[in-house]
Amino acid sequence: MNGATQRCGYVAILGRPNVGKSTLLNVVLRQKISITSRKPQTTRHNLLGIDTDGARQAIYVDTPGIHSGASREMNRRMVRAAASVVADVDLVVMLVDRDRWTDEDALVLRYVQRSGTPAFAAINKIDLLREREAVLPVIDRLARLEAFAEILPISALKRDGVEVFRNAAFARLPEHAHLFPPDQLTDRSERFLAGEIVREKLVRRLGDELPHRAAVVIESFDAGADLVEIRADIVVESAGQKRIVIGREGSKLKSIGSDARRDIEKMLGRKVMLHLWVKVRSGWTDDRAHLERMGYD
Ligand code: GDP
Ligand code: MG
Repeated sequence: MNGATQRCGYVAILGRPNVGKSTLLNVVLRQKISITSRKPQTTRHNLLGIDTDGARQAIYVDTPGIHSGASREMNRRMVRAAASVVADVDLVVMLVDRDRWTDEDALVLRYVQRSGTPAFAAINKIDLLREREAVLPVIDRLARLEAFAEILPISALKRDGVEVFRNAAFARLPEHAHLFPPDQLTDRSERFLAGEIVREKLVRRLGDELPHRAAVVIESFDAGADLVEIRADIVVESAGQKRIVIGREGSKLKSIGSDARRDIEKMLGRKVMLHLWVKVRSGWTDDRAHLERMGYD
């Protein structure tokens, strides 16, 4: 009864922080990831989202950001984790900004080339260009690297070029039976996603002030029929950082909490009571055991 041959494979989206990876994944998945309620599953990857369209299934893999200057334990781990993901997928998509090519991009590209995995470059945020032609020199520069099977200008935010991108990605996937049912959107637990939402709001409000220096640990997640009560710690390295996260008279922490609560309620379809604490743990980014507890391995 089944006509078309099934295609299925893993796609890693790489790129510097802020280049638009999360935005792209959300538009690819049409926000569906936010209403998932699947039990966690163990996979070989940090899996973020599953895009199934008829006979085609792309499994998008979350990769930790790659940063140059891997002096700290955490950075070393992130680089190692990203490098191993790249070698283990069917396609790598390097998301780049329209106007910059940095040392970090070059570092990412070195891992991609070493892996031999086919790669696309997606030039994001083209809506910010004054005219469309302005993307041509960017395409040209990337083409000269001779590293990419496709170079695709997109605007994740405006959904511009996203269908072309999805189809190009699907076309690169091997013939393979689907690994997930069509209605499954992620392998992550609600508890994990709730932590990610808190982290997102933290980074949104404090991104430049606390790059990679804060982590979120969900201490408890009690799901009732119509109320979910969540206790989470925001772990920082110093009393100074703690003051920044809390803000004047608690204003920062309050807005982080209410932004997060709203999104978690949307995801769960239930009322949420979210309790946030800020805790200081000096040098935690260099502490292996602690990193493992927070899921960095
Ligand atoms: P990530 O760190 O790579 O996951 O980046 P995010 O997806 O969090 O996006 C970082 C910022 O860039 C957010 O403020 C997004 O709204 C913005 N952004 C993402 N894609 C686009 C785009 O296509 N156009 C514009 N103008 N902004 C975008
Ligand atoms: Mg992101």
